[in-house]
Amino acid sequence: MGSSELERDNQELRRTLRLMVNKAESNEATLNHFFEVELRLLSCSRLSELLDLILIEFKRLFNLSNVNLILFDPEHAARSLLDDYIPPPNGNTLRFVQSQRLLNSLYPNHRLIVGSPSEQLRDEAFPITDNPIQSCALLPLIRHNCLIGSLHLGSNDISRYTEHVRYDYIQHLASVISVCIENCINQENLHRLSSIDMLTKVHNRRSFDQEIIKEISRASRTRDPLACLFLDLDHFKLVNDNFGHQTGDKVLRTVGLFLGKQLRKTDTVGRYGGEEFAILLPNCSEKQALEVAENLRQKLSKIIFRNEDSQPFRMTTSVGVSVYNSDNYTNTQLDKLSYQLLRAADKAVYMSKHNGRDQVSFAPCPKIKPDHIKEA
Ligand code: GH3
Ligand code: MG
Ligand code: MG
Repeated sequence: MGSSELERDNQELRRTLRLMVNKAESNEATLNHFFEVELRLLSCSRLSELLDLILIEFKRLFNLSNVNLILFDPEHAARSLLDDYIPPPNGNTLRFVQSQRLLNSLYPNHRLIVGSPSEQLRDEAFPITDNPIQSCALLPLIRHNCLIGSLHLGSNDISRYTEHVRYDYIQHLASVISVCIENCINQENLHRLSSIDMLTKVHNRRSFDQEIIKEISRASRTRDPLACLFLDLDHFKLVNDNFGHQTGDKVLRTVGLFLGKQLRKTDTVGRYGGEEFAILLPNCSEKQALEVAENLRQKLSKIIFRNEDSQPFRMTTSVGVSVYNSDNYTNTQLDKLSYQLLRAADKAVYMSKHNGRDQVSFAPCPKIKPDHIKEA
């Protein structure tokens, strides 16, 4: 072999090597990118956060024209967690299905679909879009061998998803997404179950105690007043004694539901004791809080309850109000402030009871000494 031939072979080999290195580097970059996305998926603790990542950010992260998601949600477990969730605009839709019919027809063998979609498939997978989807990857989301959803990645590049390429990465991503969706729903439902009172569906005491600390902290930051209302049903024991415990439970359920409906989204209602409810009204002055309390008292006294024989009866309520103004305090612990606010509202209820029940009273939230002059 001549030296020029050797030289040529050498150059050819170098070129092949360079191409292989480039390919390896590009594979590594893709893999790293997928790892990063995977970590972000796994770090989502709320379903809404996870959906935003998939429906909004995936578009940018993977350079896609559309991302659509279908979730199998027969018992509204996912939807019940998304009351306030606003799905993203621009054709990135989120759909819920009650039956698995559509999912089973899309994925009879639980295998992903890639390539240029037929018109029918395009309409089914990307129902609301102006983008001309040229190629797509439709990924079945599977948990415990069951289809729980379908993720649709659409591109306006026809060569982006073709049938001849292996899609290990996105298949793996689909598995991670399936686990994350299931985890978020389970975790959030568990959290919800542990923080609501099963009878009245408002916050339980433990959760209310956490909320008040959060709100005190927020009020201290924003310098907004935070009002606390305490409501105690009058002579509730008589309901149990005269009509039985079941009717008593029904009264509590009705009151809990009523209070939940009356208030703003930012307000917090909790069942603090047997027939005692507490309410937090952020950014609410003393005057406004007294108005809210009076309004609730009047409306509660007009509710007609019925015993098991359908006999009607009414209840009255004693209400206590107190307001935390952050200007009054410096450097004090949040739990101590929460305690003081609740205690003041409770004291106000006592005043209402003492003065004849069925009324609203106010007790000021006592000032706490600043930390630096607190005794050891
Ligand atoms: P007052 O006007 O002084 O508040 O009188 P009251 O009867 O409302 O208050 P009291 O504290 O004497 O009685 C509260 C009653 O609430 C006693 C308890 O059996 C009842 N109770 C507590 N929890 C529940 C519950 O979950 N269901 C029912 N049905 N009753 C409950
Ligand atoms: Mg009581
Ligand atoms: Mg009572």
